[in-house]
Amino acid sequence: MAGEPQDDCLFCKIVAGQIPATIVRETDTTVAFRDINPQAPTHVLVIPKAHHKDAAALAAETPQLAADVLRETQVVADAEQLDSYRIVFNTGSGAGQTVWHAHAHVLGGRGLQWPPG
Ligand code: AMP
Ligand code: ZN
Repeated sequence: MAGEPQDDCLFCKIVAGQIPATIVRETDTTVAFRDINPQAPTHVLVIPKAHHKDAAALAAETPQLAADVLRETQVVADAEQLDSYRIVFNTGSGAGQTVWHAHAHVLGGRGLQWPPG
């Protein structure tokens, strides 16, 4: 069921403290932690604590929680002192999504090219 923890979900395990992560921020509804394979000097993932399979499902199922995630990306960017940054929600395997628990990538600390690859 949407929002319920999934036994086979890596990010649900991070939320539950069953897998270690470098957590930079936590709220009642979200967790932010450093990506294990950073693609920029700052590469933080912001996730809802509740399980939703991707950003589209998150926005459709609990719009307020989607707003919480988006607001946290800005708090992280401020904390990391990023003037410019990119928020990415890879959605679908063809776009590079590999973890099926909604997450925003916050990328910054270097120049970012456009269009992305
Ligand atoms: P995506 O490819 O958009 O689904 O993003 C998943 C991200 O999770 C990738 O950037 C991975 O490097 C990252 N990742 C995978 N396992 C971990 C982990 N244990 N801790 C932190 N980040 C992770
Ligand atoms: Zn999950």
